Amino acid sequence: MPRDIQARTDAAGDAGRVDAVIVGAGFAGLFAIHRMRQLGLTLRCIEAGDGVGGTWFWNRYPGARCDVESLDYSYSFSNELQQEWKWSSRFADQSEILAYLNHVADRFDLRRDIQFETRVTAMRFDEKRDVWIVSTDKGDEIEARFCLMASGNLSVPRVPDFAGIERFKGKWYHSAQWPKEGVDFTGKRVALIGTGSSGVQMLPKLAALASHVTVFQRTANFSVPARNAPIPDDDERNHKARYPELRKAGLKQSSGMSRIPIPTMAAQDMPAEERTKFYEELWAKGGSARIMTAFNNLLRNEEANETLASFVRNKIRSIVKDPETAELLTPRGHPIGAKRLCVDMDYFESFNRDNVKLVDARRAPIQEITETGIRTTEAEYEFDAIVFATGFDAMTGALNEITITGRDGRRLKDKWVNGPTTYLGLMVAGFPNMFIVAGAGSPSVKSNMVTAIELHIEWIANCLTYAASHGALTIEAQQDAEDEWVQHVNEVANGTLFPKADSWYMGANIPGKPRVFMPYIGGIPAYIKACEQVVADNYRGFDFRKLSASGS
Ligand code: FAD
Ligand code: NAP
Repeated sequence: MPRDIQARTDAAGDAGRVDAVIVGAGFAGLFAIHRMRQLGLTLRCIEAGDGVGGTWFWNRYPGARCDVESLDYSYSFSNELQQEWKWSSRFADQSEILAYLNHVADRFDLRRDIQFETRVTAMRFDEKRDVWIVSTDKGDEIEARFCLMASGNLSVPRVPDFAGIERFKGKWYHSAQWPKEGVDFTGKRVALIGTGSSGVQMLPKLAALASHVTVFQRTANFSVPARNAPIPDDDERNHKARYPELRKAGLKQSSGMSRIPIPTMAAQDMPAEERTKFYEELWAKGGSARIMTAFNNLLRNEEANETLASFVRNKIRSIVKDPETAELLTPRGHPIGAKRLCVDMDYFESFNRDNVKLVDARRAPIQEITETGIRTTEAEYEFDAIVFATGFDAMTGALNEITITGRDGRRLKDKWVNGPTTYLGLMVAGFPNMFIVAGAGSPSVKSNMVTAIELHIEWIANCLTYAASHGALTIEAQQDAEDEWVQHVNEVANGTLFPKADSWYMGANIPGKPRVFMPYIGGIPAYIKACEQVVADNYRGFDFRKLSASGS
């Protein structure tokens, strides 16, 4: 395949010139290598880490595991792969997912196209030659016709700007920069800052080892139990027998997950007693997907949302024995699910331990890190170790860290100064031949990410095939089409309760970051339909050019 794509790249044997550069070797980058190779493209995948896995390479903190069931949170592109891989439990842990991604890299011989321990620092579109010049921190300059940005939505860890961190005599860690060799917290006094999904997963593991854990909570979060357990052999056999069919069924779900009933009823339409019984059943089953889709209006209607929110608040009060701690752990001020719903294994139970203490970092914010610990506006605490579970510069962070210069010398970061804008989440006007995999403006983090990634890479592969068959060298989103899509993304978000929470989906966790709801919340089926319609209309909203105006 596409000789036309290769016509002016002629990459064979020239390490500095390839058809496509892929940035990142996580779920997205690995599948991108496999799929782009099938098109016959020459490739270089550049990965900052020294191994594959992305999220699962970096987030090695104790307790890290997926919250989408592993039978869904895995590739569907190869039936052989999904048949042969055996997940040990419903929600696999980090080491198992990392082993899976290493297996994928070996099985499909992907490593030979990956340059590890290298960071892409800049990308510049050369308008005269219609190529991207990709620069790295190792001094490489690679010419590529296409760039696939598989650089991740949650790949830029964020440590708040606390004064004094350099003075701290103990050790400090961020959940997403965890040492490979692990950390022995036995007998240590540990501070845990942050109570999002990472902090919630980590606390029970830390508490089991440390002499004492102090949890600094700024915002109480909703969390539901995972009820993680081994997958019974029968279930696995049945699932695998129906895998292709179940994957298709997943595409009919807003979340891209299979086996979740599609809700047809509003929460208020069920009598209160029956509704509570229903929530009890779903709480007992565990996981977030079923309970958040118990009714069709939980994330659209405040009254409906409150039925579930108050159910979970009551659960917290029933688990946590000390009433003051329970009160502090009870989330208020945001709808349940509007921040990512945490999925835990004994998070609230951990506060019943003698060696766990909760500190209200909203009432008494952290002021500084001292030589020996942490000082808030109310008290000083001594620690041997501080763990930051303080999240990421999500969705735009990885792209904005690279100096990306498109047509007319325009920087992507400047274009995105008021928030990310894309056409279908796939391309940005003014940045030809640069595809973003499962980022802002697409279902991405509001769905099973592996599904979102596979959909995008398939779409890109088809688009490149189309371009080749039309002799086109550049593909570019039109500004009007981008504006229309951004407006649609915002309208859909504004019809939900999501904008009511200060979440990382909204950029609210980073001081000064524009407040816009970044993912597309219309769901996987609506998104597939939108993409299919664009293709059916001969890629409406995209320009395919044979030569750039100034090209030769
Ligand atoms: P990543 O896995 O983030 O990979 C991006 C890679 O790009 C990284 O390895 C990074 O080093 C590299 N990179 C970035 N910038 C550069 C650069 N400039 N130069 C070179 N390399 C670069 N999603 C779900 O759907 N279900 C879950 O259960 C789930 N659990 C999660 C648990 C944790 C702890 C976290 C943090 C996220 C979770 N997610 C989950 C989201 C998760 O990020 C995605 O599911 C998925 O792993 C993303 O894959 P990716 O390849 O798009 O990005
Ligand atoms: P996060 O959800 O952004 O949580 C960060 C936490 O740090 C919040 O509790 C935040 O408080 C707190 N924080 C930030 N700055 C602070 C400060 N200055 N003082 C005190 N507290 C501060 O990050 P995360 O937990 O790493 O999760 C990010 C996303 O990764 C998740 O939403 C999810 O998509 C994914 N993830 C998934 C899983 C899983 O279960 N599979 C596990 C981990 C991560 P505020 O809320 O007040 O800002």
